[in-house]
Amino acid sequence: MTFSKKLVILDRDGVINVDSDAFIKSPDEWIAIPGSLEAIARLNQAGYRVVVASNQSGIGRGLFDMAALNAMHAKMQRAAAAVGGRIDAVFFCPHTADDQCECRKPKPGLLKMIMDRFEIDPSATPVVGDALRDLQAGAVLGFDLHLVLTGKGAKTLAAGGLPEGTKVHEDLKHFALDYLAERDE
Ligand SMILES: [Mg+2]
Ligand SMILES: [Zn+2]
Repeated sequence: MTFSKKLVILDRDGVINVDSDAFIKSPDEWIAIPGSLEAIARLNQAGYRVVVASNQSGIGRGLFDMAALNAMHAKMQRAAAAVGGRIDAVFFCPHTADDQCECRKPKPGLLKMIMDRFEIDPSATPVVGDALRDLQAGAVLGFDLHLVLTGKGAKTLAAGGLPEGTKVHEDLKHFALDYLAERDE
């Protein structure tokens, strides 16, 4: 059976939208990074489905509830659609570190769920994040790793210790340009 397994997995905060140490708790606080939604649209046009894998411990901490998270994601989808983009699914971990779950990155649980759901080959699937834990989660399963320098990305790069083979891009826009150009897409 052959069908498109072209998929890109994105962290959310610091990759698609502006991050905050005080958490993104409401749709009003959800602000797209310039060019990120256009990058998603460009990936879609090249035949890639885009999904999000995001730690959202603000839920477990009681900083916001599921209704607020759903409202943020509705805003994200509307904003993406306004520039011709689409996010196929949002996988999130609502737990705190104390919960010791299997889905909070750097644990690979969210990415494993995506792998199984979309039946993809991790070595041919990019994971894009701004934090070391995004890359560590991907490294466990052999994903193609990409760091963007938005959000926590510049600090992450400066701290060093990136998993072997991690590629670095200025932002999501440049990830999309670089990734598609390498493949003549
Ligand atoms: Mg992030
Ligand atoms: Zn979890």
